[in-house]
Amino acid sequence: MLLDGPIVVVLLIALLGLAGRFAVGARRTPREVPGDSEDRYPGAIDSAPEVGPEAGPEAGSATTAIGVSARLARTRSLLGAALADLVGSGLDEDAWARLEEALIGADVGVEASTGVVTEVRRTSRERGVRDLAGVRALLQDALVAELSTGSRALTHRDPASASGPTVWLVTGVNGAGKTTTIGKLAARERAAGRTVVLAAADTFRAAAADQLAVWAERTGCELVRGADGADPASVAYAALDAASASGADLCIIDTAGRLQNRRELMDELGKVARVIVKRAGHIDETLLVLDGTVGQNALTQAEAFLAAVGVSGIALTKLDGSSRGGIVVAVQRRLGIPVKLVGLGEGIDDLAEFDPITFVGDLLAD
Ligand code: GDP
Ligand code: MG
Repeated sequence: MLLDGPIVVVLLIALLGLAGRFAVGARRTPREVPGDSEDRYPGAIDSAPEVGPEAGPEAGSATTAIGVSARLARTRSLLGAALADLVGSGLDEDAWARLEEALIGADVGVEASTGVVTEVRRTSRERGVRDLAGVRALLQDALVAELSTGSRALTHRDPASASGPTVWLVTGVNGAGKTTTIGKLAARERAAGRTVVLAAADTFRAAAADQLAVWAERTGCELVRGADGADPASVAYAALDAASASGADLCIIDTAGRLQNRRELMDELGKVARVIVKRAGHIDETLLVLDGTVGQNALTQAEAFLAAVGVSGIALTKLDGSSRGGIVVAVQRRLGIPVKLVGLGEGIDDLAEFDPITFVGDLLAD
């Protein structure tokens, strides 16, 4: 026989590898921005939680996009029980209080929960609604009303406008899910036929850029990264240069989420944003990535970012995890910034555009 078993296997793997490369488009060599090698922020600690394993995306990830519905089962049963209890009690005073508690327990936040219950009480009284389906529908309307802020579509520049690439800046504390969300976004944008440059402006740890590099390779995007200790703003600048040079449609900039202290982090982000505006003339989206499982703490984090960089939209991640879902309502009410995206797992497809009506429908489904 001309080829024996192992050789055939090796050839097959090589062929598959080649096919994969063509499938995701031309892979380019990452560009590197030089930097000083010293650790700029030794012993860094911030309010950000420690991240778990710096896992890159894995083929055949355990989670696939199955919608919000299945992922918020606990919250749904909690709210469902509170509604049944309310209707069963004949809309008793205490049962209203228990519904409010259930909403707070779902991370809706005290203010929003009180507002929503007051509204449902008022409308049910006015319209004489006392049955389960009717009260549920009123609750649904009140929650959706809480979520009606601003446009949720991510902004893309008109490619014909010759104003350069669309620029999205992605911020958030360490471990919130920035890099993963960027990977998922990159996949979506590539699937929509756009060319994308990813900027690894989290130069704080080499592992962070490596993780983005895995996503760049997987999604067929150009990656611009810095040497260890490179100035993040210079990486963003170089990425915008690369995007202009190649005529890319979009440049997505990843940033660090943990420096020595919050002040340093915010100063650095401010600088990155200023350099982007100087080079590109615009930032089309500043997305703040928040971990949905940290509950009300997400709001405190968000406020610090809002003060440092103007945030245009929230990406709320890990709604598949121990998140109780209601944080979506709390975030939007407190911050007045639309939740544009929700992360539903670690897989490449586990990202959804946030739709209030579907989301609340899922949260309150039977
Ligand atoms: P970053 O530090 O903000 O860049 O966060 P990463 O993107 O590195 O994410 C931190 C961890 O959260 C990683 O293990 C991710 O796989 C995980 N992660 C990110 N988004 C989601 C999500 O929507 N659901 C789940 N379950 N895990 C997520
Ligand atoms: Mg990261």
